[in-house]
Amino acid sequence: ARRKLSSIRNTDAITEDGTPIELLANIELPQDAANVLQAGAVGVGLFRSEFLFLGRDNLPSEDEQFEAYRMVAELTGGAPVTVRTMDLGADKSPRWLNHQLAENPALGLTGIRLCLAEPLMFRAQLRALLRASAFGKIRILFPMINSLGELKQSLTQLEYAKAELRAEGIAFAEAVEVGAMIEIPSAALVVGSFIKHVDFLSIGTNDLIQYTLAIDRNDDTVSHLYDPIHPAVLKLISYTIKTASKAGVPVSVCGEMAGDARLTRLLLGMGLRRFSMHPANLLDVKQQVLSSHLDEVGPHVARMLRSEDPDRIADLLQQLNAGPD
Ligand code: PEP
Ligand code: MG
Repeated sequence: ARRKLSSIRNTDAITEDGTPIELLANIELPQDAANVLQAGAVGVGLFRSEFLFLGRDNLPSEDEQFEAYRMVAELTGGAPVTVRTMDLGADKSPRWLNHQLAENPALGLTGIRLCLAEPLMFRAQLRALLRASAFGKIRILFPMINSLGELKQSLTQLEYAKAELRAEGIAFAEAVEVGAMIEIPSAALVVGSFIKHVDFLSIGTNDLIQYTLAIDRNDDTVSHLYDPIHPAVLKLISYTIKTASKAGVPVSVCGEMAGDARLTRLLLGMGLRRFSMHPANLLDVKQQVLSSHLDEVGPHVARMLRSEDPDRIADLLQQLNAGPD
């Protein structure tokens, strides 16, 4: 099977009935970008930039960050690179951060909340990203957005960073694309209000499952309850994809679900056309794409979405994956 998989490395990801699907890679370190195209991805769908901030005693400077982002942009040879602004806090708390340890960190000062609470730290990252946008196709993605207010505040910070660079005569891509992660149930439910403020959306299913089901994603004692196909999770994902698609806003899934080949047809049937995953999963997912017929997958998934019975959903998923390939 491995040999067969490697033979599709350079094959375009197109469904049996001819719909192109975008498969992108998740990376954690700038140098990971070197292997992305070779692995069969068409770009980076999620660069978890917080890893630049961890395992060290001080905050990386704007210049140091700029070099890292430029390196990623150049290593992918002009292919799109979506950089998520630092998603720190919760399970990823840097040594240099002087905030009090929260009793419930997953509900505390994480992601965009921390960025907005530390505007100078945030501004340095945004300036570095904008400067790198002159060297490749950088996209900027805000994590853990919870409300339209947070999205607008984040965009305002980006506008300040742009204004500073303009005043200093420093080059950047004026039309740099900006997106929001949908990974808190509240965001999924009001995603329509984000549409006209963003160029794209990305669904973080890892956190979306955690916050929808109230299951700590890292707690082994409840991991059996961590269920990607819980009907409530499926409703939120499906609603987000539908709302974005109707408005013509590209939407991806960048959580683990996107790299799980057992869920590829399910996501295709919900209307997903952009997947971002660990590079090791790319060819398995591509194989599912190549063997899927959207005309068949769509109605089948619609039936799954009408059910709130976990056993029936599991049965229907099995049928979906056993279908013609
Ligand atoms: C997610 O939550 O699905 C996601 C992609 O972000 P992370 O796993 O880094 O929280
Ligand atoms: Mg997340």
